[in-house]
Amino acid sequence: MISEPIDPGCGAAAASTCHVAAQGERGLAPTAPASGPAAPTAKDFKSTLKPIWCPGCGDYGVVTAIYRALANIGRLPHEVAFISGIGCSSRIPGYTTAYGFNTVHGRALPVAQGIKMANPDLLVLVAGGDGDGFSIGGGHVPHAIRRNLDLTYIVMDNQIYGLTKGQLSPTTKRGAKTPSSSYGSMEDPVNPLLYCLAYGAGFVAQGVPADLDGLTKMIEEAIRYRGFSFVNIQSPCVTFGDADNQVKVQKTRMKALASLGHDSTNRLRAMDLAQAYGEELYTGVFYRNPNPPQTYDAQIRERQGALKV
Ligand code: SF4
Ligand code: MG
Repeated sequence: MISEPIDPGCGAAAASTCHVAAQGERGLAPTAPASGPAAPTAKDFKSTLKPIWCPGCGDYGVVTAIYRALANIGRLPHEVAFISGIGCSSRIPGYTTAYGFNTVHGRALPVAQGIKMANPDLLVLVAGGDGDGFSIGGGHVPHAIRRNLDLTYIVMDNQIYGLTKGQLSPTTKRGAKTPSSSYGSMEDPVNPLLYCLAYGAGFVAQGVPADLDGLTKMIEEAIRYRGFSFVNIQSPCVTFGDADNQVKVQKTRMKALASLGHDSTNRLRAMDLAQAYGEELYTGVFYRNPNPPQTYDAQIRERQGALKV
């Protein structure tokens, strides 16, 4: 499914003619300039399509946090592209007014990388679930990380395949009984935090819809990070998910990394804390590279410039 953004009403036919295009490598402006169109609000990113998630699904909170983070960033909907795979959470592009591409299962990252390379001025967000990202799409994650395009990957991790009625996913805990593991899962789960840290992601965070303000701030920080950023969101599946991972329980279990005095520039300490995935519910930024390397898209521009000489 490809969706188009709303008319920004600013007369800018393309990002290259818009005020935001002149903001440097990332093209991020804190707000729209006084002389241009009004700064967008969270409402400007909400489409007219009504979500069909189950009442109480954690993804409602996630999409709200995304609207708010995008409004804080200040880019207009037609300057943003939202790419997803398949699954309940992958419906997100349809619920925003940004450009959207609902691709095929596990293939959001390669499509997003192509889009970013073709149009580096676009702010590209990638969304999906734990099954989409770490099972069928799992092979794409390390390559997206090492390539380091300026993308933000948001995974709604509910430790289950929700759309297909509750089978075990790559992040389901050992022993869990599901329609495809009637006697209990015999596999250890993938640890998405450790996975992304180990492959060298420059920004790795974890949030919960139970803390909407914290989640909004974290998504905004991830978008502002220059390079590949990863946000794992423990987004409860109220229909098939584990009782231990519902919003009410999250509120009692969550531990903000900031309150533990974690230094988010310490990668080894971040990996140490990430090992507690599935046991402790740490929220916040695990790791942010204080010296982000040059992005792939910036290197392309540099080479293009050199070839013209
Ligand atoms: Fe959300 Fe689960 Fe319902 Fe899917 S099945 S919409 S993940 S609550
Ligand atoms: Mg899932």
